[in-house]
Amino acid sequence: MVDMNEPISTTTYLDRIARARASMAATGVDVLLVSVGSDLPYLTGYEAMPLERLTMLVVPRDGEATLVIPRLEAPRVVEQPGVFELQLWDETEDPVAIVARLAGPPATVAVGDTMWARFVVGLLEHWPSNTTQYLRSATVMSALRMCKDAAEIAALQAAGAAADRVAGQLHAGEIPLVGRTEAAVSADISARLLAEGHDVVNFAIVAAGENAASPHHHASERVIRHGELVLCDFGGTMNGYCSDITRCVSIGEPPAEVADAYAVLFDAQAAGMSAGVVGAACEDVDRAARRIIDDAGYGEHFIHRTGHGIGMEAHEDPYMVEGNTLPIAPGHAFSVEPGIYLSGRWGMRLEDCVVATADGPLALNDADHSLVVVEC
Ligand code: ZN
Ligand code: ZN
Ligand code: ZN
Repeated sequence: MVDMNEPISTTTYLDRIARARASMAATGVDVLLVSVGSDLPYLTGYEAMPLERLTMLVVPRDGEATLVIPRLEAPRVVEQPGVFELQLWDETEDPVAIVARLAGPPATVAVGDTMWARFVVGLLEHWPSNTTQYLRSATVMSALRMCKDAAEIAALQAAGAAADRVAGQLHAGEIPLVGRTEAAVSADISARLLAEGHDVVNFAIVAAGENAASPHHHASERVIRHGELVLCDFGGTMNGYCSDITRCVSIGEPPAEVADAYAVLFDAQAAGMSAGVVGAACEDVDRAARRIIDDAGYGEHFIHRTGHGIGMEAHEDPYMVEGNTLPIAPGHAFSVEPGIYLSGRWGMRLEDCVVATADGPLALNDADHSLVVVEC
């Protein structure tokens, strides 16, 4: 059992940087630049505040990695000997010029997906695109980030279990629905995610009746009524890793049409989970779930991909979507969340997260998968 309160060791970061360098060599990247976003804490343990001041880890393929940060942020950095050198910049300095001096000009640079455009535009002045090829950092980092190690899997399990407990409260009728607004229920679920151990709530979609036909509906001031299907899709971040679960409840016995559709959804989700085995393609997960929904005649009402990767980010590689032929590898963590949406009437989705292992899919959620009837 991995103790989640134990900080990740310097050895782990050294290993990750070494693997990033190996990936740079394999993909022909000379310099990797990561700024705000998850790649930075993944590689260094340091999470930059999403501010306008430049924070950037400069990783040359050969040579020392340097974390360039504003002097005022330096006290927040936990140094990791051997992982990176620290380079502080003062308010009157040009931090982009510092980065350009440290690493340039490279033939190929990979920049973080969530780096501010202002820094990329600044870099282009130092390293024009006719001499330096710009790539996404995903080129280097995606393969690493996708394959979760034991500590990451333990963190995902803990977050998933916490989300399951909230789903259990929903099923047990401990979260009142009738007469409350979607927004009030969303706030209630959010508070429960925090109470169960999440550090941050990432989203708490609550969609009642016809609103559930919009997959990313924002919880509104609409009041929930008896007889409705209520879709709840929620998750947060706990010790740096995300949870994400969707459960629907029926307030009172559902009409036959809804119950029948849910039986299809249930089978589709289970098929998607079983298809997530090492060596299968990501698109096979989508196909397994979609085939069942298609065969039942609801194909046109399943309007999104079946799943997304999950880890430090709520949505990340790999995506379970037609056309993604990437083979599933041990440590890949992703959601399986088919849905059926009848515009203007009702919608339903069933979502678990899962980690592919050599021994088969390891579910991160085990809350009741049936359409639980509640009476409150
Ligand atoms: Zn979503
Ligand atoms: Zn979700
Ligand atoms: Zn999801």
